[in-house]
Amino acid sequence: MKKEMIAEEMFASRLDDIPFSGIRKVFDKVRELEAEGREVIHWQVGRPDFDTPQHIKDAAIEAMNRGEVHYSPNLGILPLRKAIGVRTELDTGVPVNGETQSIVMSGANEGILASMLAFVNPGDEVLVTDPNWHHYKSIVSIAGGTPIEIPTTAEDGFMIKPEEVEKRITDKTKILCITSPGNPTGCVLSKENLEALAEIAIRHNLLVISDEIYSRIYFGEERVAPSIYSVPGMAERTIIINGFSKIYAMDGWRLGWTVASEKLTRGILKIRQYTTVCVNTFIQHGAVAGLTGDQTCVDDMVKEFAKRRKIILEGLRSIPKLSVSDSLGAFYVFPDISAYGLTSQEMADYLIQEYGIATVAGSVFGTSGEGHIRIAYSCSTEECTRGVAVLKEALAALK
Ligand code: PMP
Repeated sequence: MKKEMIAEEMFASRLDDIPFSGIRKVFDKVRELEAEGREVIHWQVGRPDFDTPQHIKDAAIEAMNRGEVHYSPNLGILPLRKAIGVRTELDTGVPVNGETQSIVMSGANEGILASMLAFVNPGDEVLVTDPNWHHYKSIVSIAGGTPIEIPTTAEDGFMIKPEEVEKRITDKTKILCITSPGNPTGCVLSKENLEALAEIAIRHNLLVISDEIYSRIYFGEERVAPSIYSVPGMAERTIIINGFSKIYAMDGWRLGWTVASEKLTRGILKIRQYTTVCVNTFIQHGAVAGLTGDQTCVDDMVKEFAKRRKIILEGLRSIPKLSVSDSLGAFYVFPDISAYGLTSQEMADYLIQEYGIATVAGSVFGTSGEGHIRIAYSCSTEECTRGVAVLKEALAALK
């Protein structure tokens, strides 16, 4: 008789290197507390609390009604690729032909996955910053590569030290991944830092995956955070990852893009044709309205985030035992809680269990994240103000 196999025996070995997300656990806990009728401060959510702007929804609905319900090209619809090209050129100052250099993806996440699958051979090493959005390490593992972490610290404002990169480069290193503004730190890599990293990438012939999904949520002088793509010599070796989730509040639409040289784009496209084939066609028409329409909605959202950032930073800085870096972008701050003598997980558990403050432990984002918690201020201004007051009470009780 055929032996019944139990589930674990069926799993591919690549699952061994992929954990369930630590962030999901927080969401489960929040749901549990809310089911008990407890009030929760939602500082765990890495997405805007705004609705998608109406003109984007209208364009998608109109497209659906006029019959845009069939496959689109694997690359995405032409007007959207052109708009992505125009936007990238505006943001980076580098000429981009969206028609041949961009692919519309089912979220930035698919852009990262397709890029890794296109360029990583088994055994290749991929440099990822630590702390970082935890998907990177898992996606490198899925592609058969080995993630190599580059530690960064709050003291250095989470800039990536060139010497820390240099000393981890071997003959197997293929890709350097950077995310700026960063998740979980909110830190923005300076132009000088990007130039130093570009110099290393060129000298060692590395590809760079530059995750710019938060580039417009930037509180510096310019309209957009600096991009490594703008550094001379980098356009040919950089894959920009970007998307609609954060800046147009469209995370549930699952819509992102890659921009890279025509040659690199052809490689990514090969994978893409076998993953999701294309993004829902009517949704892509909504996205065209987003990129080409009035950008007041984006400016207003960024202004609102700036207000909340001020409330959170001022609030955290009035707590003597906490320290927090500037976090010039995204909607995250990453305070150092180590003076309280708890691990980041213990602190996150304490805050949610005892005070209903949902945050994410820094350790979820890598070893260097230990000693910190991630606070996402993608909740209402009122919730930010209330959250600061409750946090003060919670930390005062620890003494
Ligand atoms: N990159 C970073 C740094 C992110 O924080 C996220 C979402 N949390 C993504 C990519 C994924 O975005 P998308 O919803 O477009 O897949």
